[in-house]
Amino acid sequence: MERIDIEIVKRFEQLIKNSSKFIVLVPHTNPDGDAMGSVLGLWRILQNAGFKVKIVSPTKYPEFYHWMDGHDQVINFSHHPKQSARAFAESDLLICLDFNQLSRLGDMKPLVESFEGKKILVDHHPNPGNFTDLVISDITFSSTAELIFAVLQSTEFAPYIDRNAATSLFTGIMTDTGSFAFNVSNPNTFEVVAQLTRLGIDQQEIYSKVYDNYSADRMRLMGFCLSNRMTVYPEYHAASMYITREDQKAFHFVTGDNEGFVNMPLSINGIIFSALFTEKEKYIKVSFRSKGDFAVNEVSEKYFNGGGHRNAAGGEYFASLQEAMTQFENILPEFEDRIKQSVK
Ligand code: 5GP
Ligand code: MN
Repeated sequence: MERIDIEIVKRFEQLIKNSSKFIVLVPHTNPDGDAMGSVLGLWRILQNAGFKVKIVSPTKYPEFYHWMDGHDQVINFSHHPKQSARAFAESDLLICLDFNQLSRLGDMKPLVESFEGKKILVDHHPNPGNFTDLVISDITFSSTAELIFAVLQSTEFAPYIDRNAATSLFTGIMTDTGSFAFNVSNPNTFEVVAQLTRLGIDQQEIYSKVYDNYSADRMRLMGFCLSNRMTVYPEYHAASMYITREDQKAFHFVTGDNEGFVNMPLSINGIIFSALFTEKEKYIKVSFRSKGDFAVNEVSEKYFNGGGHRNAAGGEYFASLQEAMTQFENILPEFEDRIKQSVK
């Protein structure tokens, strides 16, 4: 695939072939569909090719991904730090997927930093950090899953991409593009999907497993937040929503229950910038979404200790929910011109 430097692909292939111990695959904290789809897809392909592979996730990931091939192999660092450390000690190659900075690993950062084997990064975020021996990073890909597919296809491991791997990779592409609603301006994404389709994936079943898998509590929380926790700022083409710890308790919140909430205000006529603030034990999790040229990663980088993509970004704010919301309202005027330029 001409979009990826063949020399880099060769180095990727060689680093894998040089591994004689385990290869450990690592997604970012609170992994999403793309992080898990990439990790599990690559896990299946490398296993098929005869390698020994472990997966260590910094934290747990949503239940609605727990049907994916290999999901029961994932070691959760936050619950099993010793088992995770052992997996690292038994490995001579580490592959980081779907993140660009070590800070995205949370408490698992030291384990990755001190890893003695070779390290590879495969990612599609802007500004990849310099913490691995090899960096495969390209923001023109919709998702890390699409990038992994494109890379592997150019290697001798291509024949090992089976239906299970294709299903995981498709899940990554589907979730990172909002079911092909955004990040899909590059036709290559659809070419990759066509190839995954030839491998026999069932898109409808995958969609259903991911999106028709919510609890009644989650639906009720969504309705509650839309009614009681949303503020619209028409003059800034913006909207925000928040979820308190008490709300979470009242609706028996589990990881992933707020997934997708941040996108909803974007369906209001004229709104192109949306924010979601979720109160966590030690910080406020911030999520941003936008439409068009308005770059929300600049907002999260500058004001919310975060990063991300132009139209999907997030961060962690170490203060109260009220302070996070006030901060958001205070910075809107600074971005007013840029927001207005993006309104079509
Ligand atoms: P989400 O809003 O779905 O949690 O995150 C959207 C995107 O924002 C992610 O794919 C990731 O690129 C970025 N992001 C979310 N949270 C953080 C964070 O705490 N730090 C950084 N650097 N990026 C984040
Ligand atoms: Mn991604």
